[in-house]
Amino acid sequence: MTEKGFYSLPKLPYGYGDLAPFISEELLRVHHDGHHQKYVNQANALLEKLDKARSDGSMANMKCDVQALSFNIGGHHLHSLYWANMAPAGQGGGGTPGGLIGDLLDKEFGSYERFKKEFTEVANSVESSGWAALALCTETGRPLLMQIKDHNLYTIPGFRLLLVLDVWEHAYYLDYKNEKARYNARFWDVVNWEAVDHRAEHIIGGEKVESRKAVHPATAHVIPTR
Ligand code: MN
Repeated sequence: MTEKGFYSLPKLPYGYGDLAPFISEELLRVHHDGHHQKYVNQANALLEKLDKARSDGSMANMKCDVQALSFNIGGHHLHSLYWANMAPAGQGGGGTPGGLIGDLLDKEFGSYERFKKEFTEVANSVESSGWAALALCTETGRPLLMQIKDHNLYTIPGFRLLLVLDVWEHAYYLDYKNEKARYNARFWDVVNWEAVDHRAEHIIGGEKVESRKAVHPATAHVIPTR
């Protein structure tokens, strides 16, 4: 049997000071090394707790632990995406979306400007801790907006995330104090559209492979009946 997997903090694909002035070096350090690391540690501690309970035959508090796993793994996953969908301004960050993501946004929203306006409003109107997100519905092919509460609530199950913006107070307060809208507006200077486009290509490409597998008549007979 292979070793069980655990989560680890991903390294940033740029230096801690490289996203300034969107976010300062100090803020990025606290956010990545402090907050994100904590979600990783808590998720792993919960997995270890569940592993231990299984090996000694005891019962964990399933409701509590499963909900805490959702929060902490959600936090880890969203932060990993957030770091990866940004790049220093002018060095991969900023500009306008092209390729598949450019086409998807034009088709759904009418224009990039309209998409930006809607996404920004989703981010501005988060009431407490949460995220603004663009996700892809693989059934309709539509890119849709989500306002995720905490790290795990109000998401649409099965939708694949393309672009996320952290609007928890810890994401901006050190640099912007109560001016969340100013932080949200500056986000566009660091969005790495190439990375977002790769995700969209990967999701749509992977989906095509999956659906071919599921319905391909040449392989249908090998699926055992139960
Ligand atoms: Mn955060």
